[in-house]
Amino acid sequence: MGYAEIKQDLDREASREAKAGGACKGCPPPKKFLEECKKCSTRADANLAWADKMIAEYTKAGNDPSNVTGTDIENAVDASLTAQGIVTSVAGTTDASGNVKVKKQKGPCARLEEAATRAHEDVHANHTKDLQKKLGKNTPAFKKAWNDAKDWAGDEVNAYTAEKKYWEKFKDDCKKAGA
Ligand SMILES: [Zn+2]
Repeated sequence: MGYAEIKQDLDREASREAKAGGACKGCPPPKKFLEECKKCSTRADANLAWADKMIAEYTKAGNDPSNVTGTDIENAVDASLTAQGIVTSVAGTTDASGNVKVKKQKGPCARLEEAATRAHEDVHANHTKDLQKKLGKNTPAFKKAWNDAKDWAGDEVNAYTAEKKYWEKFKDDCKKAGA
């Protein structure tokens, strides 16, 4: 479920609530959405800061000529984060066929966080499909391009940028809703 759908869903609930209360003037005060804003603004900021951090990490790894493959990039980023004492967990994956998996999250902002991960993985899936179109499915040329260090790092930067846009839009919508 994308962010737009979540927002629509919450707006619909809010307008139902407003109608039930008989006070819908140009609808709504989107109560549910405002609750989500209140609950998740700290998480949104943390996720924005994390995306910035990861963009910097992948940019650095992508500029290091000793990284040749996507695996090299992942290892370099992991090593860098570990050296900083940062422990990470994988929230989603996209395989070489473009199949996206998003891990179920826990906590009050799980729905938003899963959608942000989906926005991230969708970038990878679309990029994988573009490469397949250009180079053929599972051809040696595709495999080489898909696992190329520069391409991998660039695709991660794009994916974290999409995640950032997601959270910025959330914050923006919260502000517009008066949160
Ligand atoms: Zn990614």
